[in-house]
Amino acid sequence: MGSQAAWRLAARGAEVVGYDRFAPGHDRSAAGGETRIFRSAHFEDSRYVPLLKHADALWEELQRETGRELRRLTGCLLMGPAEHHQMRTVLESIAEHGLDHEVLDAELLAKRFGQFRLEEGDAAVLDRRAGFIRPELTIQSAVRHAEELGARIHRYTPVRTITPSGSGVEVHTNAGAEKFDAAVVTVGPWVNDLLPDLPWEVDIRRLINAWYVPTTDAWFGDERPAFIRTAPTHCYGLPSPDGVSVKLGLSRAVHLPVDDPNRLNRTVEPHELEIFTQLIEQYMPDLHPDPIRLSVFMEGYTESSRPLVGPLPGNDAVVLLAGFSGHGFKLSPAMGDIAADLALDGATPRPIEFLSTVNRTEA
Ligand SMILES: Cc1cc2nc3c(=O)[nH]c(=O)nc-3n(C[C@H](O)[C@H](O)[C@H](O)COP(=O)(O)OP(=O)(O)OC[C@H]3O[C@@H](n4cnc5c(N)ncnc54)[C@H](O)[C@@H]3O)c2cc1C
Repeated sequence: MGSQAAWRLAARGAEVVGYDRFAPGHDRSAAGGETRIFRSAHFEDSRYVPLLKHADALWEELQRETGRELRRLTGCLLMGPAEHHQMRTVLESIAEHGLDHEVLDAELLAKRFGQFRLEEGDAAVLDRRAGFIRPELTIQSAVRHAEELGARIHRYTPVRTITPSGSGVEVHTNAGAEKFDAAVVTVGPWVNDLLPDLPWEVDIRRLINAWYVPTTDAWFGDERPAFIRTAPTHCYGLPSPDGVSVKLGLSRAVHLPVDDPNRLNRTVEPHELEIFTQLIEQYMPDLHPDPIRLSVFMEGYTESSRPLVGPLPGNDAVVLLAGFSGHGFKLSPAMGDIAADLALDGATPRPIEFLSTVNRTEA
């Protein structure tokens, strides 16, 4: 979110100064692991679709301006019980917004994507304007582009506090303090540390990704869609861009809490892999069940899974982007643009009421 906000603000001619606890593109927070899913259809809430359309246009723009392939549209297969509200939301959002898609029955799925198994009563939908994003390349490209446009980025410089100063803010680091008209706060899992009085709960969780090698060629044919299995056994995966393995991840329900984001336990215990093994057996039996790589990340979840976007209560000069609840990366250029609207104009024309910090009722 921070790299995209820096790009969007610098693109509008604002004087931008960014701070990162580490350096852009690191793997010690929510981003990393080479891939993130982009999709146009939303199974959680169709109100995201207009924001995804805005993000989609900005993904294209950032690719054009940086000359790098940040995203590849290989499609995303959404699979799950046809009668479950998540699959119904997918189909509703596709119909409502005229999204490019294919509905596949079990026979067609087996023919085109033999790597997946469906359960009785499952539906499968291929979201065609979907695929994978390269997170590290994206973050570094957006930051570099912002720097080309005049932004200054302080690396390995954690912000300690942000205090009101006149109509603006003062940002404090170990190196001193700087004054600004506004601050955009995008500290991911550190949100409760930097803003301990936040009136909403952001629950920080530890997420595991595991990479598995296929025993057949099915995963790396001409079509290489990402996939999501919706409830009741939510999981997702992506064939690796290097054609070696398939990365799998799990639903929010199984992620352990993180007490201190500075002390993330990055060791994966064998028992934590059991759920991956079960999913492989049940839905993707041609993946060899011994992982070749494991990585651990962190993410902040709000109670509703809807991120917090908007002014910080009590200080309108601080724009907060937090609690992306496992689905923020695809939206990040749109969120950066919205943060630029809010920081520069105090309002945004984008439909963010359902995410806004203004008049938000959840705990
Ligand atoms: C395993 C995993 C898989 C995911 N898969 C997908 C997916 O397929 N598609 C999708 O759309 N989304 C996905 N997400 C979600 C997405 O990656 C996150 O929502 C997104 O990265 C959140 O961005 P952020 O900027 O809020 O936080 P982060 O990416 O965590 O970035 C926070 C930044 O703030 C910096 N920071 C922290 N504290 C300070 C401080 N005090 N001062 C200065 N800098 C600070 C950190 O160094 C870091 O660079 C996934 C997340 C995880 C963990």
